[in-house]
Amino acid sequence: MKTAGLLGGMSWESTLEYYRIINQETKRLLGDTHSAKCLIYAFDFHEIERLQREGHWEKMTQLMVEEAMNLKKAGAQFIAICTNTMHRMAPDIEKETGLKVLHIADAAGEAIKKHGFSKVALLGTKFTMEGDFYRKVLMDNHGIETLIPEPEDREIVHHVIYEELIKGILSDKSRKAFINIIYKLSEKGAQGVILGCTEIPLLITDEFSPVPVFDTTRLHSEAIVKFAID
Ligand code: GLU
Repeated sequence: MKTAGLLGGMSWESTLEYYRIINQETKRLLGDTHSAKCLIYAFDFHEIERLQREGHWEKMTQLMVEEAMNLKKAGAQFIAICTNTMHRMAPDIEKETGLKVLHIADAAGEAIKKHGFSKVALLGTKFTMEGDFYRKVLMDNHGIETLIPEPEDREIVHHVIYEELIKGILSDKSRKAFINIIYKLSEKGAQGVILGCTEIPLLITDEFSPVPVFDTTRLHSEAIVKFAID
């Protein structure tokens, strides 16, 4: 089994899910008393959130590369970034560390293709929905088209992520708002929805959604285990 180096704490609410799912999946596949070999570096999300808000992406790239290098020195054989947004710097981390970065959008893309879908909605932070670092991987590597919410709905999704989900707040009002946004995108032709922020699966699951959900926290965690034990 390879040792995974996880860049986490973005937020700890979802890193906890990663740790749980990675270990459950390792046990499911290997049985007995098996568990995952992994190293976690958890950032203080308060510092990351401020840098994101102020647009200091170069500084964040430097911090992420530094901590990925530390994981490598500590024995990590590949890297997983436990957030969709911070995949913006995945190519830099791969280049600087020389380690494979297991991309979260590839994990989502593989699952979507298995469903036979080619057009899906994408919910995430504004950085993920509006930038091309994520949608381009889905299109270039998997031929998957993504639909994003209208600007005012993007504001709602972004606000709920930072003001509620990251702080561990789950509200029915926000769940209803998300369902309404997913519904509007399904009317426009989305066959499914990518929960492209690792905290959204805490709020939305298949039982609430009008179309199948692709939970990136789960799909990425499963891909990490598959890569580790392959
Ligand atoms: N965990 C979130 C994501 O998957 C948001 C936190 C962050 O900005 O890294 O994008």
